[in-house]
Amino acid sequence: MKSFSSGSGGAPDATGLPLTPPIDNPPKQDLDQAKLLKENSERYQAIVDTAVDAIIVIDRFGTIQSFNRAAETIFGYQAAEVLSRNIKFLMPEAVQAKHDGYLTAYRDTGERKIIGIGREVVGLRKDKSLVTLELSIAEWSDVDGQQCFTGIMRDTTQRNLQARRLQEATEVAQQARIEAESANHAKTEFLAVMSHEIRTPLTSISGFIDLLARTGELSGQQRRYIDLVKTANAALLTIVNDILDFSKVEAGQMDLECRPFSLLVLARDALAIVRPGAAAKGLALEFTVDRGVHDWVVGDHARLRQVLLNLLNNAVKFTDTGTISFDVRMQTSADGRERLRFSIADTGIGISSEQQHRLFKKFSQADSSVSRRHGGTGLGLAICKRLVELMDGEIHIESDVDRGSTVWFTSYMPPVSEPISEPPAECPPEDPAKRKARILVVDDIDTNREIMEAYLGDNGYSVGTASSGAEAISMLQNEHFDLVLMDIQMPLMDGVTATRVIRALPNSVKDIPIVAMTGNVLPQQVRTFLDAGMNDHVGKPIERTKLYNSVRRWLPRSEKHDVSLAFHSPHFDGTKYDEFVRMLGVARVERTATKFLDQLTKAFKSTPDETRREAHDLINCAGLLGFHSLVEACQAICVTTAHDAARQRDVLEEARRVQSLARQTLATQILPKLRGFSRRPDGTRQFRGR
Ligand code: ADP
Repeated sequence: MKSFSSGSGGAPDATGLPLTPPIDNPPKQDLDQAKLLKENSERYQAIVDTAVDAIIVIDRFGTIQSFNRAAETIFGYQAAEVLSRNIKFLMPEAVQAKHDGYLTAYRDTGERKIIGIGREVVGLRKDKSLVTLELSIAEWSDVDGQQCFTGIMRDTTQRNLQARRLQEATEVAQQARIEAESANHAKTEFLAVMSHEIRTPLTSISGFIDLLARTGELSGQQRRYIDLVKTANAALLTIVNDILDFSKVEAGQMDLECRPFSLLVLARDALAIVRPGAAAKGLALEFTVDRGVHDWVVGDHARLRQVLLNLLNNAVKFTDTGTISFDVRMQTSADGRERLRFSIADTGIGISSEQQHRLFKKFSQADSSVSRRHGGTGLGLAICKRLVELMDGEIHIESDVDRGSTVWFTSYMPPVSEPISEPPAECPPEDPAKRKARILVVDDIDTNREIMEAYLGDNGYSVGTASSGAEAISMLQNEHFDLVLMDIQMPLMDGVTATRVIRALPNSVKDIPIVAMTGNVLPQQVRTFLDAGMNDHVGKPIERTKLYNSVRRWLPRSEKHDVSLAFHSPHFDGTKYDEFVRMLGVARVERTATKFLDQLTKAFKSTPDETRREAHDLINCAGLLGFHSLVEACQAICVTTAHDAARQRDVLEEARRVQSLARQTLATQILPKLRGFSRRPDGTRQFRGR
């Protein structure tokens, strides 16, 4: 019997060789050999006895030759109980026959199924319970040349249990993450829907107040009341907009515009808005612009204005005496980039240092008693922080209680040369006699239709109204209209469906410009409108200036030589492109687009650092030309680090895909049209956006 658990003389060692010299008076050489063998055997015995893994030796028929202590512990048998028995009884019944099969096949054909391969098996303990084991098998030959097998087994019950627990914990965590994400998504949706619902009645309030104010038969007191309602309405709209903005930022749906604008005009406009409030409190308002600041820059005009107004309004709100200083200068940031630095300093109540770090968090106000005195949602600075970050900048506050605060922020807005002509900020009413344009207003809410009729009628347009998408389609087929202002959410047939139907009509009605009028202003919603074939959108509550601008932009004009340059595709936003052409003129856009095509063609072929630099340099121009998918892809490249190689690969792949689309659009559509246009036979270089 071969047993590692006995270790006594006469038994073979782990190699199967006998331990005790078999003959009397052996020669000295044999004695040395025998001693060596004994020593070897004892060494192996010690190892095998102390091993934490079960070690079982079987012969080629499966008969157990040795069974170490760890095997005794795992299986619950003593070595003496198992030696000379076939190993099958340590296996569950279902496996036993298979095991015989393996051994027979191996004996007959030499086919190895399990030798040398670590794998998981199930063992049967003496108490009939099952144990999972990791098994590896070595094969060797004994002194008679007979095959033997050593199986080393590790009890993996504990390890499996831990893995299972880890797996369960991971699943729980994943589930929690999914739930949190869907809760967050639901919250964003809810906020968007709610702000839409609030915007709709606000449209009526502001519209009718506006119309009331223009009736001209009001006493001074009535005018004062109207002003008060207007102020309250504006405040309510600010809150709704803040909530909507915040939910947009949280959902990653805040897209910044990229257009040239005058910084000085913007700053002065913002100051003009807060000046009356400051004057009412006797506060001085100072404005300085450093010489290094370029007037015309590219960026999101409206969002910069929003941040500046929030900070300037706060400064006025929290200052009772003294001065508010607004300063603009250039600053070279740590990354070597030149950024604009805006700073707004006041001599107001200040904010304690422990309150300061909470300020940029949502719904956070420095002091509840102060907030009660001044009102507000505490969302303003949180939104500012996120907007500034989207502008590739940072925002900070420095403040001393009772001495005042300075809030400063940076933003990356590259300089551009001043465009030849700026679009008019306000469209003065045109001479109605000159214009015969007829507009169809589609809205299910009577009051909204009434307001739009008044607004458009005031400006000399002839107006028809429909209260559903279906009615609009029927009217368009029977009467002549030049433009449709289409509400989105309507019972029976919504505005998006109606647009799709109109665009599929078999006659020229299908080409009529359609402008969405809606409180649904999330970028992804706006994209749905454009994808359905709408040309533009104006947000509710409708602002007259924006409405007139949009109507003027999309109304067909009489010039015969107009050239249409823009179109939409899932990766190209023709409206943005139109704006760019309108701002810079065809010749400049042609030069810019040619350079951009060259730059784009060379991009994304080099090292990750170089690719990041190229992406960074492409963003602005891509945005101005309307390649929004390319902008997103470049932004993704800029923020993906080498630590996440898989993501980096995916991002680059997507960038190359949109790069190719953009190149195609530039080379086959935009540039030929621009060039064809600049070579018009009559030499004129006119552009009409459509
Ligand atoms: P809200 O939208 O309610 O005005 P903000 O996020 O703009 O909220 O500001 C949050 C709080 O920060 C304010 O309620 C006020 O307590 C504090 N705060 C902001 N600006 C100033 C300032 N210039 N001076 C003193 N306190 C300020």
